[in-house]
Amino acid sequence: MSFLTGAELDKVYGKAKGSGYGFIASNVAEPNILIGLMRAAEEKNSDLVLQISNSASKFAGNGDPITGLRAISQYIKELASNYEFGVFLNMDHLKESNMELIKATVDEDLASSIMIDASKESFEDNVRITRKVVDYAKGSDLLIEGELGKIKGVEDEETASAEAFYTDPDEAVEYVKKTGVDLLAVSVGTQHGVSKGRDIELNVDLVEEIDSTLTQAGLEIPLVLHGSSGLVEEQLVQVLDYGVCKLNKDTRYQYEYARAALDYYLEHKDSILPPEGVNDDREGFFSDTDWSPNKSDFDPRAVSRVIREAIKETAGDLFEQAGSVGKSLYSSKVN
Ligand SMILES: [Zn+2]
Repeated sequence: MSFLTGAELDKVYGKAKGSGYGFIASNVAEPNILIGLMRAAEEKNSDLVLQISNSASKFAGNGDPITGLRAISQYIKELASNYEFGVFLNMDHLKESNMELIKATVDEDLASSIMIDASKESFEDNVRITRKVVDYAKGSDLLIEGELGKIKGVEDEETASAEAFYTDPDEAVEYVKKTGVDLLAVSVGTQHGVSKGRDIELNVDLVEEIDSTLTQAGLEIPLVLHGSSGLVEEQLVQVLDYGVCKLNKDTRYQYEYARAALDYYLEHKDSILPPEGVNDDREGFFSDTDWSPNKSDFDPRAVSRVIREAIKETAGDLFEQAGSVGKSLYSSKVN
């Protein structure tokens, strides 16, 4: 069984932080992306950080996030048991309004870590809400990630912040001290949603300043970058040197998924759609013509295989960039 909890994840991040590499935290909402990611981690001999949001849990649970999370968490655990690398699940962007989901995650050990996002609130309220989750998770084996500063863009189907507010290093020290979080998400110029590397004014010096200010205060914890889908490799490599161990990616996989599916269907259009002049007789399954759709092309597993492969390739390249390749702490393979 290689689905692991907070204590092991803490070791994985600790090693990464000390060695200047990090992990792509990859969002999942359905099985094809999940399986593509698993295959990438296996091929690259990397530990795997998955994450799921409240709305993705809700989607999986047909409207009920707790049902969805239970199902996905169990599905991940079953798949992970066939692999040697460590598989971790983070709850992405949970809010104070998701307290029931947070409690179920802790009570039923459904994940390895929880991100509580109260960054929209005032500093005092952010501390209070984050502290509430840290306190609830006490005694459990889950890490808690907090966020300070506001990250611009569309996160998980809603516009989180129209403007960016950069994280203040001294405030970060106070925040970590008062909340006891294990990881800190910072706002340093990345954007949620679709963004282009050349448009991102990534403030690498600020990342370094936050990290060194925390370290000097004896609070050396892994930093997290959200909205990293648009970062170009050079930007990504820079932040890894300054204590960033977790880089969230969601949008990139969504696009690769859509492209793989679209390319596939365009390529197989003629074996799925009847040709011009042929009656679109789906009810009679085209029995009055010679033309038939090709089952091996329209079987949903056919497009799914292509999607899984696309996600595997994309994730493998991203794991290379993050530097987690060949570094699984749980593999018996010689690294
Ligand atoms: Zn985020």
